[in-house]
Amino acid sequence: MDLWYTEKHSDNVGITMKVTKTLFSGVSEFQQLEIVDTLEYGRMMLLDGLVMVTERDEFIYHDMITHPALFTHPQAKKVLVIGGGDGGSIREIVRHPEVELAILCEIDGLVIDKSLEFLPTMASAIDGHHPRVKLHVDDGLAYIREHQDAFDVILVDSTDPIGPAVGLFEEDFYRLVFSALKEDGIMVAQSESPFYHADIQKSMYQNLRTVFPIVEMYQAFIPTYPSGFWSFAFASKKYHPVKDFDRDRAAKRDFYTRYYNEDLHLGAFMLPTFARENIS
Ligand code: SAM
Repeated sequence: MDLWYTEKHSDNVGITMKVTKTLFSGVSEFQQLEIVDTLEYGRMMLLDGLVMVTERDEFIYHDMITHPALFTHPQAKKVLVIGGGDGGSIREIVRHPEVELAILCEIDGLVIDKSLEFLPTMASAIDGHHPRVKLHVDDGLAYIREHQDAFDVILVDSTDPIGPAVGLFEEDFYRLVFSALKEDGIMVAQSESPFYHADIQKSMYQNLRTVFPIVEMYQAFIPTYPSGFWSFAFASKKYHPVKDFDRDRAAKRDFYTRYYNEDLHLGAFMLPTFARENIS
């Protein structure tokens, strides 16, 4: 008998994948966590039944939540990730030699533990041995309150605006992020699908625009996320992701990136009209 996992993207549409094995299933104080083996996408993490990461397409999301900010900022030394317990964002951040310290603030220690156990290619840099990585198991909202003028880049690699992540899409949180960033700091946050989540995007970008002088959206193709058309919010105190982008510096990077490149960096900020309208 075939076993299929389905995530509903709306009441009438979803993605369904053939599952070969359930590697872990459990409930933390915050959410239901499953890690399953799929025929098409390899191992996959689900939180409250929603796709978080898969082995096959995680390179796209983790390239695109990290490298645009780190190649726009001229020298990001201290980087904070809120959420990101699978470790993929931290793995990409520490590939940048200029980064002296990458801090992960993940609310749910079970996500870190099970990522280390079942998703080692993603969690490679959060195993506690990386000299430039520090882990905190804490609510990002509480953690950010204790830090002023501390970070060059803050990445909000959170779940959707439900449960523990709901506060990470509010104006108050963005004001806290603004004050936790240095005077030329940059924040990037995953900002859902322009195709399915226009309402979430409208309020999220309105909130960002009341706080940051520069707010742009950029896109990426992520096949296992609703509609496959995904987006990120780029909020910056000083540097513009296109006008201030040093293409040569990105082109000369000494590490391979399977999705990101110096031309895609610019192209990702070119949006279809309907996506522009979501945030105008
Ligand atoms: N790439 C995924 C996406 O776009 O949906 C996100 C993956 S990562 C696993 C999301 C993480 O955010 C989860 O591990 C969750 O526990 C964490 N998270 C949610 N709310 C949080 C909060 N308030 N503070 C810190 N981490 C939080």
